[in-house]
Formats: sequence, structure tokens, C-alpha cells
Amino acid sequence: MLGRMQTSALLVNDILDHANIYHSDVEIVSRLVGGKIHRETYSEAHLRARKMSQALQSLGLDKGDVVATLAWNNHRHFESWYAITGIGGVYHTLNPRLFADQLIYIINHAEDKYIFVDLTFVPILEGLQDKLNTVKGFIIYCDEDEMPQTTFDNVHCYETLINAHDGDFSWVQLDENDACGICYTSGTTGNPKGVIYSHRSNVLHSLVAVSQDVMGLSSKSVVMPVVPMFHANAWGLVFTCPMVGAAMVNPGPQMDGASIFELLDAEQVSFTAAVPTVWLMLLQHLEEQNLKLPYLDTVVIGGSAAPRMMIEKFEKDYEVDVNHAWGMTELSPLGTMGVLKGKMHDLSFDERVDIKVKQGRPPYLVQMKITDDDGNELPRDGKTFGNLKVKGPFIIETYMKDDGGEILDAEGYFDTGDVATLDADGFMQITDRSKDVVKSGGEWISSIELENIAVGHPDIVEAAVIGVAHPKWDERPILIVIKKEDADLSREDVLGFMEGKIAKWWMPDDVVFVEEIPHTATGKIQKLALREQFKDYVLPTANDA
Ligand code: AMP
Repeated sequence: MLGRMQTSALLVNDILDHANIYHSDVEIVSRLVGGKIHRETYSEAHLRARKMSQALQSLGLDKGDVVATLAWNNHRHFESWYAITGIGGVYHTLNPRLFADQLIYIINHAEDKYIFVDLTFVPILEGLQDKLNTVKGFIIYCDEDEMPQTTFDNVHCYETLINAHDGDFSWVQLDENDACGICYTSGTTGNPKGVIYSHRSNVLHSLVAVSQDVMGLSSKSVVMPVVPMFHANAWGLVFTCPMVGAAMVNPGPQMDGASIFELLDAEQVSFTAAVPTVWLMLLQHLEEQNLKLPYLDTVVIGGSAAPRMMIEKFEKDYEVDVNHAWGMTELSPLGTMGVLKGKMHDLSFDERVDIKVKQGRPPYLVQMKITDDDGNELPRDGKTFGNLKVKGPFIIETYMKDDGGEILDAEGYFDTGDVATLDADGFMQITDRSKDVVKSGGEWISSIELENIAVGHPDIVEAAVIGVAHPKWDERPILIVIKKEDADLSREDVLGFMEGKIAKWWMPDDVVFVEEIPHTATGKIQKLALREQFKDYVLPTANDA
């Protein structure tokens, strides 16, 4: 016997329709490039998104076309996602911190047809346009009178396109398994790989994310997604906020402590989310200026591990609840959230922080296990650590164009590349990364890429890069080098050699000359041993915070 219930497709555009009817007057506030504060309601965003859908169709775009965005968090970026998916298109977020070569690679690989771009990033794309094989044109996020002089071949002003249409448009009807969005992994080993979210996976992720033991969002919430839309989908907030009618406050390009505080305070933000580096800057500003956070209830910290001190400060000094989250691009992105269980609220402050430094527990629809290298499941005792694997309907099945081949184990679990413990209450703690990336300010630096460049120097025999703790950036890379016997090589020579070959912020903070670099049995550099060796190393830049 079959169930006799309706089987309406789960489509993200229905979320905005819902907000338009039931939360029509709730605001999206955005700080624009240039500093101006813009306000509009969900109803206005709904109308403007439909106008932009019409505009995209008038430009010749159709179902299945991929349209990229290179922008900060703002109302136009929000509208564009819904406008693109509203014609059956697929939004593709571009991370402005990628190198030119990586941007070219992913734009061509995803076969982007048009690119929406914030004024700040126009020069980046102008430099690349000759190498973009599938891009037919660009749409700049600005008012008519702000249109810059540009070398783009086919360029449109966002507001001119909006003004040319009436919004009399119905979203294109789709299957819930149709592609909705694309985000590429950071590509620390080889080329970046594309993750294609479906409408269904995004809606399911949003339903889970809003729930009480995950983000706990509601129509009472005022949410500031500091985490960028180009980094793991702003942790889903573009969908979860309109789903429950939470107001949104978009910080735009200004993420320094003073600017973030200004918006938190002026807009009475109750909930915010970002990587630790952002919170470090905010806490420093609060302390220097002797400020308080009277409106903020909850801060979500993820992307890299939240330091204990940070959790303690938010909770003790500012009475803000910290929820430590773990996720990744391949997961839509949330995998765990560190909301305490009922029985944990009577614990002492220190005992609660002991739990909060862990990355949290998986919600329903995320199945999680740790295994040894042979795939055998390991005990959930909070001590044994193993390869962290996950399974569920908003977790990747295969990468775009099957890059990377088969990525699930026999039971359908995806190997996250992280190493973790799980305890009896389900709390997961990352103990190491199988990838050896250096995480600087929430963004990744490929140790392998730096090593490859360094060994290109004629006087360098071998090189290894590890991340060393930095008070502001979490981690900064140091380059450990064995030089040729009798070579006269200085720190400055090595850094000078690397200059221009990598982005400035990838430049190692120090170069250390050693006699020997430890190796594993299979000849790989033993990063764990190196990290242990350099665990007390103080960077020359440590005081530049
Ligand atoms: P991305 O896909 O760029 O979001 O990066 C995902 C990776 O970031 C994960 O596989 C982890 O290695 C790391 N990560 C995310 N959240 C945390 C966290 N709370 N603590 C430690 N590492 C994290």
C-alpha cells in the first residue's frame, strides 16, 4: 500500500514565496561596497528576484545554465541566487580569494554562462575575461550612476536590468533533484572539485539547520551571516532566514571588529556566525573600547577550531551562547553543532566549556562514524580517534563531472578527510586533519603548493610547510628547508624567490633551515612529527595581531 499524501517537490524558491506571504515586512539590511546601508523587505527581495529572473531569461539564459556570483553578502547577491534558481539555473559562488588560475579553472569547469559581480571585484574578472571559455557576459551589482568604466565585452548594470522588468513571473517548475547551486572545494591537492547541491538537499539542510538544537532560528531572530556566501553557502543562512522569517543583516565587505560591532549594535542582531578570525577581531575591539553585546544571544563559530579562550570570553564576559560547529563544502555545509543537551545545563562553567570546545553533535539526517584505515568502525568513547565519515541526504554523492571518481565507502559514507573522536553523547572532536592545509583566517593555504614552489629553488633540497599558531590568523605557514651543502641561502633569498609566484597572504611567515625532515615509511613527509617539533615555535609575526 502506498501513502496517500502529496508529494510536492522541495524547491528553494518556495522558501522565498513563503517569506513573501508570511514575513513580507521583515527586513534584509545590507552594508554595500562604499559603506552605504541598504534596507529592503522580503517582499521587495521577492519582487526584485522575479524581475532578475525575467532579465536572465531575456539575456538568453535557460534551465540548467550555470550563473556565477563573485560578491560579498548583500541584498543583490541574495536576490541573485533566487533569480538564478527561479529560471531553473544553477548558482555558482566564486571565492575572490582564489588565485587567478583557480578562478579561470573553476569558471571554465562549471561552464558558467554569466557572472554577477560586486564593484570591488570587477578588476579581477577584467583581467581574466579572455581566458573564460563559456562566459557570455557580466552583470555588475550597482546603481545606474555607479556603473564603472570597464573592459568587459558584454556588461549590464544590475539595477538597469531590474528596472526594465515588471516581476510578472512564475518560477520555472523543477524536479527537487535538479541542480540548485555549485560550490568548489578549496583544491588543496590538485584542482578544486565542484559540489552540486540539489533543491532537495538545500531545503532539507535548511529544515535541519533552523531546528532548536542546531541554529535555533525563528521569526524572533535577527541574523548576521558574517560567513560569506562564497564560503560554503554562508552556512545555509540565505535559505534558513527567509524560511522562518528571521531578519538578515549583511556586513558586506567590512568584517573588521569595529564595523561588525556597529551593525550588531545598531541592528540589534541576536544571532551571528563566522570563522574564529572574525571573532578574534571583534573581541579585541570590544575589549579596547570597553563595549558590551546586549542584543546578541548566540554566536556560531566554525570553519576551524574555536579556541577555548574565545568560548570562555563570549560566554563569561559578554553573556553570549557559543555554538561550535563543524562542516564542509561537501555537506551543504553543516555536519555538527555544539548545542548542549538538556542534562548538560547543570554542569559547572568549566565542564560546559569542556564540551563546547568539541565540534558538536550531528543532527538528524547526518549519520556519522569514525573508522580505522581498513574501514572498521571505532568505538564512540571520546578517546579513540579515526577517519571521520558521514552519510545523509544533504551530503555529497559524487563531485561534478565525476572528478575524484567513487568517493563513498561500501555503506555509502563519505570520508571527510578529518580525523576525530566521537563520545557517547555523540559529540565529535577534530583531533587532526588528514589534509595538511594551513588555515589562515578561515581560508586555506596549500602546504603542498608552497613546498613545490620552494623546491624549485636551485639551492633547496627539500621543503615542508606546516601551520604554526598565530594570535590573529589562527595559523600561518612556516617553510622548513634543507639547503644544499655549502649553499649560501638566507631567509630573504627564499622568500624573494617565492614572491610573485603565490598570493601575498600565502607567503610563509618564516623560513627555518634544518638538517633533516622526518619521513614516513612510504617516503611522505611526516607533518605530525614536524608539528610536534615546532609546537612551541613563536612566529616573527606573532605580535602583528
Ligand atoms: P570547507 O569545505 O572550506 O568549509 O572546509 C572544511 C574543513 O574545515 C573540514 O573538513 C575541517 O577540516 C575544517 N573545519 C570546519 N569546521 C571546523 C571546526 N569547527 N574545527 C576544526 N576544523 C573545522
